[in-house]
Amino acid sequence: MDMLEFDAVAVRYPDGTQALREVSLAVPAGQFCVVLGSSGAGKSTLLRMVNGLVAPSGGTVRVAGVRVEPRSLRGVRARIGMIHQQFNLVPRSTVAANVLCGALPRVGTAAAMLGLFPAPLRRKACELVAAVGLDEAHLARRVRDLSGGQQQRVGIARAFMLDPPVVIADEPVASLDPRTSREVLDLLRRRARERGTTVLCSLHQVDLAREYADRIVALRHGRMVFDGPPAACHPSVLSTVYGHARDGQPMLREVAS
Ligand code: ADP
Repeated sequence: MDMLEFDAVAVRYPDGTQALREVSLAVPAGQFCVVLGSSGAGKSTLLRMVNGLVAPSGGTVRVAGVRVEPRSLRGVRARIGMIHQQFNLVPRSTVAANVLCGALPRVGTAAAMLGLFPAPLRRKACELVAAVGLDEAHLARRVRDLSGGQQQRVGIARAFMLDPPVVIADEPVASLDPRTSREVLDLLRRRARERGTTVLCSLHQVDLAREYADRIVALRHGRMVFDGPPAACHPSVLSTVYGHARDGQPMLREVAS
């Protein structure tokens, strides 16, 4: 089954910027799909359409067969975990509170403000904190006192709180050093494999994309210029993605079997 479907999607922002053009992509359940491209290529725009933060100006987006549109948003968002480049945690709150925030779609904001998380969710948060390699002492620490790598571990734990079928990771390692980036991507991939989670993850580092992706989709100037397994992502493809080709020309399209 295809968990994510983009069908001839185009995005034009109100100021006239054409961020995506005719992008069609179907991501099967359980795939770790990396969206590769330089800054401004359209990666964030593509990812943000999955949870309805950006609406397509043409074409359709489906999550688990459900079209993403205003009336389906609530249901769709409950099935998506998000991991952000700048972590998007609450710095003054504890690790435990931040991880529990991932359960907001289930418990509701009012109950959450009162700290009324049911015991199974609290146990789940503890289990996840351990699974991302933080020890119990971290639960009560404030997020602002953690390193970037530790903060992104918290971000991963939060994203998996409700075992979502889909996780969207928007440049999750852009603010981390190479070693920490690998640790974080290892964790993300391991958790996703264990849970059968479909991951759409944007990266701008080619080596990391090749190492972690089941499939690489590359964007340039809002067009898909490559779609295939990491092994097919040759240097010639990369020059297309990163700029030695003529601007805006779709030079190459390989389709994964
Ligand atoms: P990437 O994530 O690959 O860096 P983005 O999806 O953020 O690319 O941006 C794609 C293009 O759309 C860029 O030209 C960017 O400047 C533009 N863009 C992004 N968000 C907006 C917005 N809210 N309004 C206008 N243009 C935008």
